[in-house]
Amino acid sequence: MGLTGIQILKKLPKKNCEECGYPTCMAFAMKVAAGQADINACPYVDPAVKEEIAEASAPPVRIIKLGGGEYTYSLGGETVLFRHEKRFENPPLIGTFISTEMQEEEITRRIKLYKQLQWERVGIKLKPEVLCLQDKGNGNKLQEITQRIRNELPWVALILSSLNSDTLRKAIEICGDFKPLIYGANSQNFEEFVQLALETKVPLTIIGNSLDEVSQLSEKALQKGLKELVLDPGSQGVKELFEDLIIIRRSAIKKRFKPFGFPIITFPYRYTDFYLLEILIASVAVCKYASLILLSDLKAEALYNLMVEKMNIYTDPQKPLVVEEGIYPVNGPDEYSPVVITCNFALTYFIVNGEIESSRIPTWLLIKNTDGLSVLTAWAAGKFGADSIAEFVKKCGIEEKIKHRKLEIPGYLAGIKGELEDELPGWEIIVGPREASGLPSALKKLYQEIKESAGVKKDKKVEKETVKEIKEKKETEEKPEEKKVEEIKPKESEVKKEEKISVVSIVSSEEKKEEKVEKIKPREKKGVICIAESINIMSKKIGGAMKARDPKPIQDMAKEETELGADYLDLNIGPAKKNGTEFASWIVKVVEEVVDTPISLDTTNPEAMIAGIKASKKPDKCLINSITIQPERLEKLGPFAAEIGCDVVALLWGAEGLPRDANERAALAVELITKLNEYGIPNEKIWIDPIITPITLGAEQLKESFIFLSMLSEIAPGAKTTVGLSNVSNGVAFRLRPYLNRVLLMMLMKYNIYSAIVDVYDKELVEIAKGKHPDWVALVHKMMDGDEVDSKTLSPKELEIYKTVKVLTGETIFSESWLEI
Ligand code: SF4
Repeated sequence: MGLTGIQILKKLPKKNCEECGYPTCMAFAMKVAAGQADINACPYVDPAVKEEIAEASAPPVRIIKLGGGEYTYSLGGETVLFRHEKRFENPPLIGTFISTEMQEEEITRRIKLYKQLQWERVGIKLKPEVLCLQDKGNGNKLQEITQRIRNELPWVALILSSLNSDTLRKAIEICGDFKPLIYGANSQNFEEFVQLALETKVPLTIIGNSLDEVSQLSEKALQKGLKELVLDPGSQGVKELFEDLIIIRRSAIKKRFKPFGFPIITFPYRYTDFYLLEILIASVAVCKYASLILLSDLKAEALYNLMVEKMNIYTDPQKPLVVEEGIYPVNGPDEYSPVVITCNFALTYFIVNGEIESSRIPTWLLIKNTDGLSVLTAWAAGKFGADSIAEFVKKCGIEEKIKHRKLEIPGYLAGIKGELEDELPGWEIIVGPREASGLPSALKKLYQEIKESAGVKKDKKVEKETVKEIKEKKETEEKPEEKKVEEIKPKESEVKKEEKISVVSIVSSEEKKEEKVEKIKPREKKGVICIAESINIMSKKIGGAMKARDPKPIQDMAKEETELGADYLDLNIGPAKKNGTEFASWIVKVVEEVVDTPISLDTTNPEAMIAGIKASKKPDKCLINSITIQPERLEKLGPFAAEIGCDVVALLWGAEGLPRDANERAALAVELITKLNEYGIPNEKIWIDPIITPITLGAEQLKESFIFLSMLSEIAPGAKTTVGLSNVSNGVAFRLRPYLNRVLLMMLMKYNIYSAIVDVYDKELVEIAKGKHPDWVALVHKMMDGDEVDSKTLSPKELEIYKTVKVLTGETIFSESWLEI
């Protein structure tokens, strides 16, 4: 990690003059640290300090630029070892070479390949982008080829390879402003080639016969003032290449070893004469961590796959790939073909489309724009609810293409079936399978049904297959259930909430009346504030009660959560698109009838949020969960919260989604807090949520959240904090989730976490929050401080905590067997 925003702030003049375009020096410092602003925008910083900040904030793998104008290519700029930690920045350039020894026909063939081998995928152009021109002792020929390539392939970045510096100098002159890469300086020609690079201001490749040699030459080049280098470690075999690529990147990122902080060039054909094996090596180099990949030749089937691979690896995980909204005909559909709808997240599209294609059932696939969110996330964000689906179906033109009115929706959206039928009169909504793999059999069945009801002759072959597949599907669906029962044997404290409710919620109507009078009080607040998470529309039982406006299960759960130690009750009503204001007011009143526990209202619908808080008996004691920087929520909820005087959760979800590191979190926090302060909400009423990510995605983001929390008291004195604790164990087997949740809470306590949205049915977790296990907490904090802990001396319980800390700090790679190892 480079400098933090706080470290940069200390070097700023603190005039708060806004000349940099930011309201305060603090906001500017955070943006500089996050790489979202240039230190040069502040006119008052001393040039030497600017240089120091720019150097310290530079990515550990330096950015090298090739080409020019609209065909400028950046190499390097990488900051992480693994894509999921943040993102990979600049994809490798892939191409081949032309040598001065080649016949004219071969040179022409290769140039043609560059023009022909181009594809478009998900709106992105895929094509070879680099070409190495090799001088084999014929300088004039190299110049001639260079000129020809510049004329015929103006987008292609060039690598000029020669042992003769004069030949290179002339070829560089032909390139003009279009910057090539010199290949390259070795121990014999080092001084001469470094001089050439300094004079022509063109990047230089450092060629070594070993990592040691590359490191020494690179260090010498740096000392001579060259900052634009590319490394060729001269690996002797595939194994060495793989190791060298990892050592170079790891040394640059983890150790900040400057001689290795440059992009790497690879030549997979050096290691084999077998083209497919060469492509396999190239594919490894795409993942780890080449910036330039030169192949012996270009073949469509190999190049396309490498291009798709690099596209996938270099996609920003924060910005999902999307496909265009519209109607996609699959397998030649007609007026009796089934209609299936899903979101426009590219991965979902490809999976669903693939399953439909393989089913061979002619189908209309409707893709609705959800801004690249997956089905459930889009639903939660209000982008894939009944109203928006209905609006899309009506306007997209599918009604003119079909003679039936049957629409299959993803199985995960079963809950909106009724609502969608209300919004789409005349349509029958079919709930599809939860997984796309179930689509072929579901579609075959649906296709037959549509044709039968329309009086179209049955397709016997399809019908036969359908019956067989449905039978098979039924069998496979039944089997996992049986297995699940055997595998999951939760402890008493881990029994599903819904099951527990069914035991404790049986009360007579007389008892219920009495309870109305004698409300359950929230417990005295001590330790970490517990916001109970279970009253959630996504829960089958509670969700059903919410939709039916049946208060009893909700009130029972509210009482139970309060008794278990909840300090706040989170009422998660989802996007609440339909009747949101009525729904939110109803649920707040229903809960407040039976408990005094303050409400945390959780919805993405700002109107529903306002109505719900207004319906509370004590609106100033409520918690708005949550406000984000997005104007549609911020501009409505900010002034409202200030007027009512309630607290707000400030969720650090930026315009581009989840912040990728501590500095991005800090920059966003400052922006959001500044806006909330402007509305009149003091820091003390703002609960910052840095967003906890699942451990299944790795521990790096958890570490970034910890770093951010350690900076927060300086960024926003007095501000509170909260987290959605259970997020850390999302996607993990149910029986294992409490172990992760509990230890993460103890880790967060090191950063004085103020509150957490938790599962209060986990008794041990609540005890930890209330300070009942200081010895466990001390063990966790000792480990986090890096102090030696002898695992042999630990009790079984302590050992379980010890192993979990190792997983959550990234010392041990997460797997569901981490407690058994
Ligand atoms: Fe602060 Fe410089 Fe920006 Fe003025 S221009 S607010 S001094 S960072």
